[in-house]
Amino acid sequence: MISDNYGRVVTGLRISITRRCNLNCIYCHEEGENGLSRNEISQSTIERTVTAATYLGVNKVKFSGGEPLMRHDLEDIIGSLPDLKDISATTNGVLLKKRAAKLANSGLDRINISLPSMDMDHYGRITGYPTALPYVLEGIDAAVDAGLTPVKLNMVLLKSLNDSKIDDIIRFAGKYNGHVILQLIELMNFKNLGHYKVDINGVEKMLEIRASEIKERRMHRRKKYFIDGVEVELVRPLDNSNFCGNCNRLRITSTGQLKPCLMRNDNLIDIPENATVDELKKLLETVVEKREPYYKDCSK
Ligand code: SAM
Repeated sequence: MISDNYGRVVTGLRISITRRCNLNCIYCHEEGENGLSRNEISQSTIERTVTAATYLGVNKVKFSGGEPLMRHDLEDIIGSLPDLKDISATTNGVLLKKRAAKLANSGLDRINISLPSMDMDHYGRITGYPTALPYVLEGIDAAVDAGLTPVKLNMVLLKSLNDSKIDDIIRFAGKYNGHVILQLIELMNFKNLGHYKVDINGVEKMLEIRASEIKERRMHRRKKYFIDGVEVELVRPLDNSNFCGNCNRLRITSTGQLKPCLMRNDNLIDIPENATVDELKKLLETVVEKREPYYKDCSK
């Protein structure tokens, strides 16, 4: 096990594998990679870095991007990984229908799919591509059929664009009999989008009133609300010292750098293309030393 100077044990890697994307979401934080080059990390670097990380206790990997399905070698990358407790990916779902079964066969355990709206007009205003929505819905079906469950639908909340339509997505998720979970995500304002910010306390109150049961998830102390048979999670990363205090992941950029925090780019460390697993273990230890919570609890 490897822990940082704040006692946070690192158990997960979030690996961005490309900056390319087939949508253009107005809110996208690009995993904090805006300004980085377009070079893409190789399969071999991913394999060796994940292997080194497993020796230090990492047992979960999540692939992100850009759009990870833009990489045709995602199945090969997953297939090359050592044994892990959990391999997942986050996708916009547009290309998922044809790939879901192959991804499951290569070792992917589960998937998150961005679904900011069920309304084609709003979906188009948010992502730039209204006609992509039916493909995403087919992708969700395919993911459930392939057993990439629970499928998590990620809905970043945007005032006047989707905040009054949460019920539509709860109803949609309900059709999948517990195989689909909804994650409502507070907008992280990377792009001057203050006018889209939703009153998250108001959303939380609405969920509390509607829920037949509420549970608290240990990771990030996130609450889960059970509404009409659907599990709904509210993800509140902003100004949240609990969120950072429970952060157990290290990031790898699509350019092949270790990144201790989504919110910062001033502490990246290059992963040398030819580094051995032993060298990578040492590098990971150095990076974990540098980790610090972005939102700290100043009351302690
Ligand atoms: N294209 C993939 C997708 O749509 O999932 C992967 C990349 S996307 C950057 C990864 C995740 O970040 C998605 O779940 C998305 O909802 C979330 N995300 C992106 N921008 C965000 C923002 N400004 N605030 C909160 N979450 C955001």
